[in-house]
Amino acid sequence: MAHAPTVSSRTRARLDSAARTAARRAYAPYSGFAVGAAVLAGSGKVYAGANVENASYGLCNCAERTAIFHAIAQGESQIVAVAVYTPTPTPTLPCGACRQVIREFGPYATIRSTCKGSGHVETSLDALLPAAFGPEDLGRPPAARRVTRR
Ligand SMILES: [Zn+2]
Repeated sequence: MAHAPTVSSRTRARLDSAARTAARRAYAPYSGFAVGAAVLAGSGKVYAGANVENASYGLCNCAERTAIFHAIAQGESQIVAVAVYTPTPTPTLPCGACRQVIREFGPYATIRSTCKGSGHVETSLDALLPAAFGPEDLGRPPAARRVTRR
């Protein structure tokens, strides 16, 4: 699989900042684990999301998926990069479910994780979810190439 796209330092800073701001809007009364995410879409726009929990635990939604669904609902079809922020001492990477959702729209996405501490991680979706199942396995073109009716 191809390497993750290069994201400029200015865009990285924009993503990290949007993810950090989004974490403040997390609805996490049960876990107390606030997460913010921001995605860089194919258009160049940034979409943010936070985790949203529910008293019925199985209905909780991660920040990464909130941000991606926000982007797709706005007409985007490609995710270039995903930034995650947690107010923790060390960075947190997307969970397995989010990795699969990222795969749908950003098989070559760059993944960044920052935290309250000074450390950060930058990797790729391919490194986090190698040999992933995707639209091609169902005989469908990658989501980014699909024509969207508007
Ligand atoms: Zn997740």
